[in-house]
Formats: sequence, C-alpha cells, structure tokens
Amino acid sequence: MKDTAKHQGLRNQLVSVLHQKGITDKNVLEAIKIIPRHLFLNSSFADYAYQDKAFPIAAGQTISQPYTVAFQSQLLEIKKGHKVLEIGTGSGYQTAVLCLMGAQVFSVERQKELFKQTSALLPKLGIRPKHLSFGDGYKGLPGYAPFDSIIVTAGAPIIPQPLMAQLKIGGRLVIPLGEDVQIMTLLIRINETQFEKHEFGEFRFVPLLEDKN
Ligand code: SAH
Repeated sequence: MKDTAKHQGLRNQLVSVLHQKGITDKNVLEAIKIIPRHLFLNSSFADYAYQDKAFPIAAGQTISQPYTVAFQSQLLEIKKGHKVLEIGTGSGYQTAVLCLMGAQVFSVERQKELFKQTSALLPKLGIRPKHLSFGDGYKGLPGYAPFDSIIVTAGAPIIPQPLMAQLKIGGRLVIPLGEDVQIMTLLIRINETQFEKHEFGEFRFVPLLEDKN
C-alpha cells in the first residue's frame, strides 16, 4: 500500500476541482487532501482515483464521487468531537473523511464482504472510527444514540423514522431521497417533534436496502 508524491499532486488537483465546484469547508478539503483515495479502490481503478468520479467496489456497490462525499460532509457542519452516524460504510472513504474532520464516527454496513474488508483497511491507514457495525442501517444504532449528525450514503425511498429519533435537537441529518434519482435532503431537528427541511438538487446513489427479517 503506497502513497507517493504523484498521488499527493493528483489529490491537490482534486481539491482545486472541488473548491471550484463550490466546496468551501476547509476541514472537508483538508481531509480530501490527506486521504489516499486510491487505496480504497480496487487496484484496476487506482489510476483514476483522483478523478471526480464514483467507481465500483465489492458486492455491487460504489465508492461515492468525491464531490458527493465533500457536499454531504459540508452539509453536516462537523465540529471536532461530534458524534456522527454514517449509514452505508462501503469502501470506508466517507468514514475516513469524517474521522479526519475530528468526528467520532459510528458507521453501519449491511454487506458482510464490505464490512470485513473496510474494518481491516481503516486501521492499516491509521483511521480509527469509534465503531463499525454490520447490520441494517434503517434501524440506526440506538445503543449509541443520540448523534450530532447522521449521514446516509445510499439512496433512500423514505426517511427511516429511527434515524430521526436518534438525532440530537439541533442535529443535522443528510440523506439522498428518492428511487431512481435522489434529492439531497438536509433535515435539522428543531425540537422533539419538528424538523426543518432543505433540498439541494439531484444526485445518484445505489439503493438503501432494508433487511426485512
Ligand atoms: N460511503 C460509501 C458509500 C458506499 S455505497 C463509500 O463512499 O464508499 C452505499 C453503501 O450503503 C453500500 O456499501 C451498501 O451496501 C450500503 N447499504 C445499503 N443499504 C444499507 C442499509 N440498510 N444499511 C447499511 N448499509 C446499507
């Protein structure tokens, strides 16, 4: 597993691209500048790792496009020490961005293969989420709730009610909503019962699948 000056150069270029596309959160850009995205991809795609594109990973899933990762991370308004729940660990790249931003990250993945692979990869890169969990993210992680923010990295047909319940008052839930195309949606919890909703245009994700048993 190598990270070279060439990779660093490509990362600097990617950071400029993201900045031009409207990402201004310095902590997000700094994390993307540091994290070796090529090590989160199958080696056949490693040469393209710093293009602003999504790529296939194991179990028919995808590593999100850097712009999408940056956009969602920016919407979370992370402060150091925040407890953040991620649904859809996948390759662990988004997890790594949140960790480098200083969040305590709890992440859930429903594909066993990805859960195992990513649980092994992150410590090798010196990245230490608080907790990686294998299971159905529709349920959240009630044992660790409440969270300062929650990020869903798969396209959700509905907002899972448990996720709303596990958000602190004032907390932010970022979730791509829709079936074929998703609208990036931010919910801010105003009080026990009310949420403020903001929408941010179209994105495309693999589906958030529910485990019925
Ligand atoms: N953040 C990841 C995104 C991976 S794609 C990355 O950048 O690599 C979305 C992930 O959500 C997939 O790994 C998929 O298996 C997972 N997923 C889908 N439905 C889920 C559910 N109900 N609970 C947990 N993870 C789920």
